Amino acid sequence: MSNEIENIIIVGTGCAGLTAAVYAARASINPLVIEGNLPGGQLTTTSEVENFPGFPEGIDGFVLMDNLRKQATRFGARFEQGLITEVDLKSDVRILRTAEKEYRTRSLIVATGASPRMIGVPGEKELFGGGGVTTCATCDGAFYRNMDVVVVGGGDSAVEEAIFLTRFCSKVTLIHRRDELRASSIMRDRVLAHEKVEMCWDHVVTEVLGANEKAVSGVRVRNVKTGEDSIISCKGVFVAIGHIPNTQPFASDMKVDGEGYFVPETDSQIRTDRPGVYVAGDCADHLYRQAITAAGMGCQAAIEAERWLAEIGS
Ligand code: NAP
Repeated sequence: MSNEIENIIIVGTGCAGLTAAVYAARASINPLVIEGNLPGGQLTTTSEVENFPGFPEGIDGFVLMDNLRKQATRFGARFEQGLITEVDLKSDVRILRTAEKEYRTRSLIVATGASPRMIGVPGEKELFGGGGVTTCATCDGAFYRNMDVVVVGGGDSAVEEAIFLTRFCSKVTLIHRRDELRASSIMRDRVLAHEKVEMCWDHVVTEVLGANEKAVSGVRVRNVKTGEDSIISCKGVFVAIGHIPNTQPFASDMKVDGEGYFVPETDSQIRTDRPGVYVAGDCADHLYRQAITAAGMGCQAAIEAERWLAEIGS
């Protein structure tokens, strides 16, 4: 164990974490950034980001995050790979542990993002990954060239995935549990007008078929209005039904709400009830969940941390 106490540790390298890293590094408070299983966060699994300010033609999600990382590195941010499994935030020096290492820090920004929610039906787990169930059209879409696939969900993610998949697939069936999409109107209009997309309204997936053959052959669906079961043949199942905040293991020492999101102090989006400990991005935001709002929260958290470190004379 090292006795060194960091000034500031930022956990997470999505939009929130990397923006915090740029601001903290540029403020010369020497941030250490801990990156987990998905460096760059959720945007690295998106295709084109069309709504990040400053990119009139859109920008590839991976490129955006890579640029942000380079920007943070340029100002001196340090990066280490590690998965935090345990924390002790009760004393003034905050302690974080991975399987290999213990970190000690005066201030902390938790920007751990959120992970895809799964449907939780038979066959889904068994066929996840190489078997044909996935949560990332950008990563896996090209494997389904000239095949039929289904996308599950009715939000912006599901619609975006469905539209992206039409580049490769012969047919994309969008399965939604209601008869109206949650997605924004521009995305809604686009998907409903697309000739390769077929809507399957008012249906839920009850089973992913093909577990014995280790490859998806279809999904069993149920009409929630009539209770009738039917089968949709497909080779790929893209699950896009929202996300679960990655607040474990911090939740043991920090306030979270019923859905697991961090609860900041009432007058702030990013301050917590522990001085010097801040939250930013999708782990603390169930309202906006945008790249730009996550970046904004990361910026706020870094500025707050810088001021707090100055206050304690560090
Ligand atoms: P979301 O908006 O929470 O939508 C989740 C969808 O999955 C909803 O349609 C929901 O149905 C459905 N769903 C949830 N649990 C389900 C279950 N167990 N079985 C079947 N369906 C289920 O999540 P999201 O689409 O990932 O979007 C998250 C945020 O990111 C949103 O704020 C969104 O606007 C934003 N986003 C923006 C863009 C963009 O602007 N380009 C792209 C992607 C995401 P109900 O509608 O019935 O609740």
